Amino acid sequence: MPKLVFALHESGRVLHIADVASGLACQCTCLDCREPLVARKGEVREHHFGHTSGQEHDWAWETHLHAYAKQLIMDAGGLAVPLHATVAEHLGLAAETKDARLQAGGTPIQQEISRGAVRPDLVLHLAERDVEIALEVRVTHGCDQAKRNEFKRQRLAALEIDLRRFPPERFDPKKLADAVLLRTENKTWLWPLPPPPARDWVYQLVDELPPEEAGQPLAKPQLPRKPLPPPVSLQFRVRAWRAAVTVSVLQEGEEHICVRVMEMAIGRMATTNAEQAAPRIAELVEFVVTGHSSYAENPRAGTWLVPSWEATAVANALQEAASRYLIHENEQRQAQGATLEADLRYRRQAWPGQRPEPSTPERPRDNPYSRRRG
Ligand SMILES: [Zn+2]
Repeated sequence: MPKLVFALHESGRVLHIADVASGLACQCTCLDCREPLVARKGEVREHHFGHTSGQEHDWAWETHLHAYAKQLIMDAGGLAVPLHATVAEHLGLAAETKDARLQAGGTPIQQEISRGAVRPDLVLHLAERDVEIALEVRVTHGCDQAKRNEFKRQRLAALEIDLRRFPPERFDPKKLADAVLLRTENKTWLWPLPPPPARDWVYQLVDELPPEEAGQPLAKPQLPRKPLPPPVSLQFRVRAWRAAVTVSVLQEGEEHICVRVMEMAIGRMATTNAEQAAPRIAELVEFVVTGHSSYAENPRAGTWLVPSWEATAVANALQEAASRYLIHENEQRQAQGATLEADLRYRRQAWPGQRPEPSTPERPRDNPYSRRRG
């Protein structure tokens, strides 16, 4: 068990051992049992709190770190945040601003207050623009999809602050304060999400054909005109980092098509990257689908229902978006003489940032869909 370094000061604030006087003069109680604490700030041992009774108990580092990080933000009244175009627009900030410092005005930052069905860790109110921002401090697991959906439904901007790289060993409160208040690379917007992605974030498009046909260009989707033949299904699958994402367009009854995004972590490779990649795919599809006038969204199922008279247009737009944003790397690998097996191995090994440079100069990209159009 790590040494106890966080405590509740009589002012009601959560403090670190470095912030308080030595001995009983620290005026602190235990965050868990409320027993008075003594601050042991000697020359030899690492500074820590002890219970006055001398009886120590189990406590959770994550819980204390979480409480202390929230205190830092409330004390500062604001924090630095990363910006992207969508969130800048939502907050009424200049879109070209890379990062911004958000400062609560009027109402101080509040903790654990409900907003609809969610109870964010903190709520910051930007007075001059009259907009609220939910702040989520992450010390273990991230925010689940239901909560993200709720932020979206309420149009409540929500920022996640990732503090998982602050274990008790060699803990430095100054570095934590920097990460919480000044730095931005450990912060992610849960809503609004960034605009549709540029192509460089996803680099693989794998079709859903049997193995012997894999690597052949996908046929352009042929959605039927009325009267409708049997249901059609077109799928493209993206290996975004280590998640597999399947986007399917299905005939739904006689009237509609249904666009569905299914995410699946591969094996035990559910990583932060996968978590980040999958919603971006959903965002891409949403961008295409919602660009059309009539649709019904079912966020829980990750589907959009599009009326039949717009079905062909949406399906075509999806394919175009796929060819624009997703790199059909299969073709390129085949051109270099790679076998399918090697190709799949390559995909499994490849990570963003670790991608091997192509050994031959890149050919102009050959769009498999436009070729079929001719
Ligand atoms: Zn205690």
